[in-house]
Amino acid sequence: LNTIVAIIMLCGGVYAMQREFARNLDQARDLKAALTNREFELFYQPQVDQTGKLTGAEALLRWKRPGGGYVSPAEFIPVAEEAGFMPVIGDWVFNESCKTLVFWQQDAATRDLKLSVNVSVDQFMKDDFVDTVLARLTTLEIDPTRLKLELTESMMADDVDLIVSKMSALRTAGVTISLDDFGTGYSSLSHLRRLPIHEIKIDRSFVQEAPGNKRNQLLLKSIFDIARTLDMSVVAEGIETKEQFLLLQSFGCTVFQGYYFGRPLPLPGFHKQWAHDSAPPLAETA
Ligand code: C2E
Ligand code: MG
Ligand code: MG
Ligand code: MG
Repeated sequence: LNTIVAIIMLCGGVYAMQREFARNLDQARDLKAALTNREFELFYQPQVDQTGKLTGAEALLRWKRPGGGYVSPAEFIPVAEEAGFMPVIGDWVFNESCKTLVFWQQDAATRDLKLSVNVSVDQFMKDDFVDTVLARLTTLEIDPTRLKLELTESMMADDVDLIVSKMSALRTAGVTISLDDFGTGYSSLSHLRRLPIHEIKIDRSFVQEAPGNKRNQLLLKSIFDIARTLDMSVVAEGIETKEQFLLLQSFGCTVFQGYYFGRPLPLPGFHKQWAHDSAPPLAETA
């Protein structure tokens, strides 16, 4: 009987895998059409300083399926990566982000804002990535210091010397390099030593577990010490409560992002809520 149960479970497992595979194939096909069908959108999530004043935003990709709702990037980006679409989708994200930067530069209320743009490994490793980015900034007369590129440690599996030289070229041109999801990858510290980055973004898992977890707090504290030593700034992401905000502030954090301040919004909504001269009041609820 045990053998029969085992065989049934095995078949069930294989069947589930086949279904998952077919679903991903369907999604990959739809993703390919999504660009031409203009189904992608960028949302903007505010980043603020210690006083709650807006300093910039992170551009976050959304896929609006016809007739359906938004598909989360956590769901479709792995499929797009697997299918090799990320460089093309990433190009669209970058061009769209550039339009926003041009728009921001025209208004005194938004002129100083920085825009953080996520870049996938495949996209960054393309031979012409740096040239394409810098050429676009020049053509559109965008101040490079308004652009931040967010990269993750997953790229460290590639040629580190090449990564360092690409980052250096961008950095020399004035672009800010940010290391996203810091603390979730392998051997983060050895990467920090080698990479010419300006900023690390502490992963939200650290931020969210910090209050009430002494070990986590000590770890966070040392991350800030290391960042100071290496002359890097730290952005805390995933701030959902006042408690997390105050705790991170006490460690010396200067840039914050999370639902506590604001959710990602389409550009018009973002402007309506954020783009005026006075600092918006911080959310009262913790
Ligand atoms: P990420 O770059 O680490 O972006 C932060 C994610 O945390 C976003 O999820 C954001 O909506 C979410 N978030 C922000 N504040 C909070 C909070 O207080 N609580 C919680 N629970 N979540 C918060 P999102 O938009 O679903 O994006 C997920 C990931 O997809 C991003 O993580 C990034 O790795 C990737 N991604 C998004 N847009 C792009 C893109 O244009 N290009 C590439 N290559 N990757 C992207
Ligand atoms: Mg990011
Ligand atoms: Mg992040
Ligand atoms: Mg993340």
